[in-house]
Amino acid sequence: MRMTVIGTGYVGTVHAVCMAEIGHEVLGIDIDHDRIATLAAGRAPIREAGLDELLARTVASGRLRFSTSLAEGADFARTHFVCVGTPQRPDSKAADLRYIDAVTDELARHLRPGSLVVGKSTVPVGTAARLGRRLAEVARDTEVAWNPEFLREGSAVEDTMRPERIVVGVSSPHAEATLRAVYESLLRAGAAFFSTDPATAELVKVAANSFLATKISFINAMAEVCDAAGADVTVLARAIGADSRIGNRFLEPGLGFGGSCFPKDIRAFAARAEELGAGESVAFLHEVDRINIHQRQRTVTRARQLTGGSFAGRRVAVLGASFKPGSDDVRDSPALAVAAALHQQGATVRVHDPQALDNARAALPDLTYALDIPKVCEGADLVLHLTSWPEYRDIDPAALATMVHTPLLLDARNSLDAQPWRAAGWALHALGRPMGG
Ligand code: NAD
Repeated sequence: MRMTVIGTGYVGTVHAVCMAEIGHEVLGIDIDHDRIATLAAGRAPIREAGLDELLARTVASGRLRFSTSLAEGADFARTHFVCVGTPQRPDSKAADLRYIDAVTDELARHLRPGSLVVGKSTVPVGTAARLGRRLAEVARDTEVAWNPEFLREGSAVEDTMRPERIVVGVSSPHAEATLRAVYESLLRAGAAFFSTDPATAELVKVAANSFLATKISFINAMAEVCDAAGADVTVLARAIGADSRIGNRFLEPGLGFGGSCFPKDIRAFAARAEELGAGESVAFLHEVDRINIHQRQRTVTRARQLTGGSFAGRRVAVLGASFKPGSDDVRDSPALAVAAALHQQGATVRVHDPQALDNARAALPDLTYALDIPKVCEGADLVLHLTSWPEYRDIDPAALATMVHTPLLLDARNSLDAQPWRAAGWALHALGRPMGG
């Protein structure tokens, strides 16, 4: 099948590449000329496991091409996936729909009759219906469907090639048949398929993210109580997670969630529910958000206590800048937020990350960055573990102890094995665990 993928950021690049990999003819479109030139040369603008190989292969095969022209896209295909950003509005907690509106208006001028516009962006419920009306004013015989994206940064290619489920929100049998045909090979491989109306599909995405965010904030709230009571939240998490009704995934206590999705998605969902008169029932999402931000403040406070009540003149080594391991994305990264707060409060901060240093440097140019863990930790009064990269579990604590000024570590992700660190002479502290835990 022929299709366009409009917006070639994290979602669009991966979607375009994977659709070409499963045999479709794909035109990726973006307004960012540099990004399109990079992609057309077979180079990925983002880091994701497996993406470089698939991109090179699909571009070389001729099945994947790139353009900056929506007019060309409308000519090329009748199925158009829209993957542009829907960030938080600068003036409120609601979603900023200006990019998706701009694409719709521009597409409307060029679309051929019989075209299907499929939104993948995360949007407030009702957006598909609104865009459908907008399109219908200009373009004859066109339809809008919604197909929310569930990929996780860090495993985006794997998630797209082997999805657990595919959800489509459609208003006609034609749209459902088209989307079934797009995903045929993935459905044959076992992905669950949910076909529903567009409003339900839009809500599935924000409901899923709200549930996951709630789970994280729940366990982090438990972590603070454990700290106060001298209890161990990691044992608590394992014990409650052993109940199959609860499950142990996403029950990892620590610095909390960030990135370009969860924070803005739960805020936008609450804002949209309020508009619809259903705000009371999802007001708990404000608490989920507050508890999450509170973990960053709690980490800064704990770090300050560990350095004797002040950061003045202190050197702090920060391990991790990306919002989660496996990704180079630093958008709303909890690690960078903590690093910035420490810097602001007078600490000399050096940051390590295996993949996100370019993005981190661009976001926070005042900090010092290095790709070398010993260099970042040299002379440090405190080491902060803020992103759970697997590399950090391979650190030799004894060797690192000889580099730092004080072997003092705060594991704000609860993912380092405390025993070897303590055996090597480190004072290891964690969120929600007593000193010996
Ligand atoms: P992104 O910011 O990485 O990419 C958006 C792209 O859209 C950019 O390259 C931008 O130049 C392009 N764009 C903007 N206006 C355009 C226009 N008029 N025409 C063509 N291209 C245009 O965003 P993302 O992280 O890929 O997220 C896209 C959407 O998917 C968002 O709604 C997000 O909430 C949702 N989503 C993201 C993830 C994720 O992990 N990043 C997962 C699921 C869903």
